[in-house]
Amino acid sequence: MIIGIDDTDSRKGMCTTYLCAVLVDELKKQGDVSTPRLVRLNPCIPFKTRGNGAVSFEISAEKEELVKEVVRARVSALSELNEEGTNPGVIFIGDNVLNTISDEQEERLKHFYETAVRDVLTLEDAYAIISGLRLDHFGLKNKRGLIGALAAVSFFVLQRNKPNYYDFTYELIAYRRKERRGKTRVIDEASVWKADAATYPLTWDTVDVANTTTVFAPHSPCPVLFGIRGDSEAAIYKAYGLIHAEPVERKMLFITNQGTDFHLIPLDVATKEQLREFYSYGLDGVVCSNPRTVEGGHVVFSIALSDSGTIECIAYEPTKGFRSTIRALRVGDLIRVYGSEKNGTINIEKIELKQLNNAEERNPRCAKCGRSMKSAGQLQGYRCKRCGTYREDKDVVTVNRAIEEGLYEAPPVARRHLSKPLVRMRAANKKIHPSR
Ligand SMILES: [Zn+2]
Repeated sequence: MIIGIDDTDSRKGMCTTYLCAVLVDELKKQGDVSTPRLVRLNPCIPFKTRGNGAVSFEISAEKEELVKEVVRARVSALSELNEEGTNPGVIFIGDNVLNTISDEQEERLKHFYETAVRDVLTLEDAYAIISGLRLDHFGLKNKRGLIGALAAVSFFVLQRNKPNYYDFTYELIAYRRKERRGKTRVIDEASVWKADAATYPLTWDTVDVANTTTVFAPHSPCPVLFGIRGDSEAAIYKAYGLIHAEPVERKMLFITNQGTDFHLIPLDVATKEQLREFYSYGLDGVVCSNPRTVEGGHVVFSIALSDSGTIECIAYEPTKGFRSTIRALRVGDLIRVYGSEKNGTINIEKIELKQLNNAEERNPRCAKCGRSMKSAGQLQGYRCKRCGTYREDKDVVTVNRAIEEGLYEAPPVARRHLSKPLVRMRAANKKIHPSR
C-alpha cells in the first residue's frame, strides 16, 4: 500500500516531513516500509504551506486497516489544525488497486503529478481521480492537502516500477528532540564546512561559499535540525557523520524531486501570449533593454520573445552576486531565462548566456586625420568636419565583455527547492558557472 500525506504543517511549527518520519519509524512494526518520497509542488501557487512539499511511502503490511488507523490517528494528532492554512489530506492506494492499475489510470496519475508541480490544480481534480480509482482517503478541515497527497502518491507509483522515470535527488533530514525545538540550533559550523568540502559535488547546497554561510538548516521553530541534499546516499551519510551538532531525535532519508528543475516548462519558441502567472519557464529571448538596478537593489532588464512581445526579468536583491552577472548583460545578447512569472515579470533562478553580442557600432574614424566623424544627418552618412571626407556606414568594433557564455545561477542562499543546481549539470555538454 502506498500512502501520501500533505498539508499538515504551518509556517510556525510542524513539518509534513517530520510527521512522515515519525510514521515510517512507527510503521516498521507492521511491515517493510520503503524510503519515503518528498515531492515539492508548484512553488508559485498562492495558497501553499511553507515549503509546499508532500510526502509518500510504501508499506507491505498484513494488516492494511491497522496501518490506516495509525496514519489517521497520527495525522489528526500531529497536524497544526489551529492554523488557518493547514488542511491535511491523506491518500491510500491499496495493493488491490496497485496490482490492477491500467496504463490509462497510470497515465492519469502521471498527468496529475506533473500538473501539481507545474500548474495549478483544484480539489475537484483530485476527487475525480480518487473516485475513479476508488481510493481510500482522509482529510481534515477543507481537505486541500488531498491534492498534494495524491501528487506524492502518483510520483511514487510512477517511480515504483521505473526508478529513473523522473530525475530525482536525496535529502537526509535530521530532526530535533522535543525539548530543543524553538531554541537556537546547536551546530558546529566548522564541521559543516568540513563535511561539505569532503563530499561536494555529490552533496550540494549545504553551504554557500560566496556568501560564507551555511544554508542547510532552517531558522524556523520547526522540528528540522538540518537537511543534507545530494545525488549520492553514501556521500550524504558521509557528510552526516562529519557534522557535529546537538543530539537528534531521529533522521530520515527521502527520495525527492528537489534540485531537478521539474517545475520549469521549456519554451524553445516563447511568445508573450503563452506566459501565465504562477508558472515557471525556461524561455529564449534577446536582451532588449540594458539591465538597471532599481530601488531595493533588484536588477531588471527585458527580453524580446519570438512574437516580438517583451517580458521583464528580475534578479532580486537576495540573489546577491548573481546580480553582477545580470548587470553584465547587454542589448542583443541571446539568452535563455529560467524562472517563474508573477505580475508580468520573470523571477530569474538561472540563466544561460547563449550568444553574447560583442559588436558595437561606432561613428567611423576619418581615414585622413583619424578623428571621429560626425553624422551628416539622418540616413546621410558621416563626414569629417576638418577634411570633408565622407563615409556611409558606422564602424562595427568588437567589445570585450565582462562575462562569458554559459549557464549561471542564483546562489544557494536564494535557491528554490526545485531548482536544479548547475553542479548537477556538469556532465551535460554545457559550460556551467556553479554558484557555491
Ligand atoms: Zn579628417
